Amino acid sequence: MSDFDIAIIGGGLNGASVARDAAGRGLRVILIEQNDLGCGAAASSSHLMHGNFADLEQGAALRVRRALTERAVGLRSAPHLVRPARFVLPVHESERPPAMLKAGLYVYDTLAPDGALSRSETLDMTVHEMGHPLKRAFGVAFEYSDCMVDENRLVVLTARDAADRGATIRTGARCARADRSDVWKLAVIDRGNREIVTSRALVSAVGAWSSRVADTVLHLPAVQASLTRVSQIVVKRLYDHNNVYALQNDDKRMIYAIPYERDFTLIGSAEQKYSGDPDTVSVAAEDVIYLCKAANRYFRERIEPADVVHAMAGPNVQVDGPMETRWRRDGYLNLSRKFGEAPLLTMFGGTTTTARRRAEVAMTRLSPFFETKSAWTADAVLPGGDFSYSQFDAEAERAWRRWPFLGGRHAQRLIAAYGTRIEVILGDAKVMSDLGPKFGEDLTGAEVQYLMKHEWARFPEDILWRRSKLGLTMPAKDREALSAYMAQTTAEAA
Ligand SMILES: Cc1cc2nc3c(=O)[nH]c(=O)nc-3n(C[C@H](O)[C@H](O)[C@H](O)COP(=O)(O)OP(=O)(O)OC[C@H]3O[C@@H](n4cnc5c(N)ncnc54)[C@H](O)[C@@H]3O)c2cc1C
Repeated sequence: MSDFDIAIIGGGLNGASVARDAAGRGLRVILIEQNDLGCGAAASSSHLMHGNFADLEQGAALRVRRALTERAVGLRSAPHLVRPARFVLPVHESERPPAMLKAGLYVYDTLAPDGALSRSETLDMTVHEMGHPLKRAFGVAFEYSDCMVDENRLVVLTARDAADRGATIRTGARCARADRSDVWKLAVIDRGNREIVTSRALVSAVGAWSSRVADTVLHLPAVQASLTRVSQIVVKRLYDHNNVYALQNDDKRMIYAIPYERDFTLIGSAEQKYSGDPDTVSVAAEDVIYLCKAANRYFRERIEPADVVHAMAGPNVQVDGPMETRWRRDGYLNLSRKFGEAPLLTMFGGTTTTARRRAEVAMTRLSPFFETKSAWTADAVLPGGDFSYSQFDAEAERAWRRWPFLGGRHAQRLIAAYGTRIEVILGDAKVMSDLGPKFGEDLTGAEVQYLMKHEWARFPEDILWRRSKLGLTMPAKDREALSAYMAQTTAEAA
């Protein structure tokens, strides 16, 4: 008898989504992540949960339709994490003609199944407030609906839901070797200790690490795939409203300027071929210059590399093959089955938006090996997401009334991160000091304790950059205090 039905290597969005789906079908699941959850692609995500309007140009209408369907699922299942926004697409005289954009957006609106988000419209930028931050030349823009998501929190809450349904989530645990017979026997190195875990099936969801894992862990030929480095930059807020600008760049790529953590604007993304180690991918100066230049084509306020307050780069992976098939495919999914040998499912790539569905397809492929319940995630909510997305502001106000010492901004941040699970963090607190020490503007000991106990945070970076983005504003002395507090909490728990 094996320890688990399914072992998953890789705690990115793909791995966490399979863990959740499988655990909810009643299977015994273990997820093994060598570092922190969402430390790969998600940590540098562009924050878009969208149909990707630009895909229509490639004739990928079906793919856009699927993504828009998943956007609606995301809004329903994670109303705290997924925020609808209006996207402003200025017409640039050197880029796509207005009639083409208008027709494309008409198709985009029509492909969206929900009907809940407003349809696209034309803006006269000479008078509309959306035109104010832009240079004078932009007389017309189109405005359409899409969504933003904090992908790191999506990964963590997906893993949380998997754990609530019985999955074992192991972070800081590297799968060093996987031997295949009628079961999988995995050698896992956790904080220097080696242990053997057995499972009836294995899912390799290691993103940009796929070739390395195939070579050194699975000892199988790697799927032909290429790596890219995807970079984003963060600057002080470039404009005062909460809409996104979709900017057509001179290389035909779409660059997005996105409101980020209240006081900042995220500009992304730059994508370059990458042949290095996925562990050490970092932002290149050329990517920063590229993104500044793309923004400077549109915004009145010029930005220079010196204005960049934070930059991040993540490794992406895409299966090789003719361009046309790549555009139509949403990630790579392959099931290897051999008589007398335990199955192996390999998955990587694809978008944030469609990860839930990809996991569902993966589990449907694996289901003949198990007696499982049927697909369930399309109608389920993620932890803390039991309210309607249109009630987000009302939820934040309710929290502020219940815990008046929080202040509006703090209540909004907590609802956006935890939804109704805010209750578990704040409980019966009456005054701020009931929540323990304070780090930076509004991170409290109670929140840190919650993150360590329920969301697998082990180090300050896990909290400051992945469970939140408070690293953007946390002063150095508060980081040190947080580090000491977490070390003390770990020691007390040992
Ligand atoms: C920078 C960037 C921005 C993106 N932005 C968007 C966006 O805005 N919208 C959108 O729809 N899509 C976006 N995508 C795509 C999307 O984020 C990813 O495809 C998605 O997160 C799936 O990632 P993954 O789980 O396959 O891989 P990853 O998140 O990279 O996870 C792989 C994990 O495997 C772990 N691992 C590797 N080897 C081992 C081992 N031996 N043992 C244990 N663990 C191991 C790694 O540590 C890593 O955490 C973006 C992708 C990138 C790279």
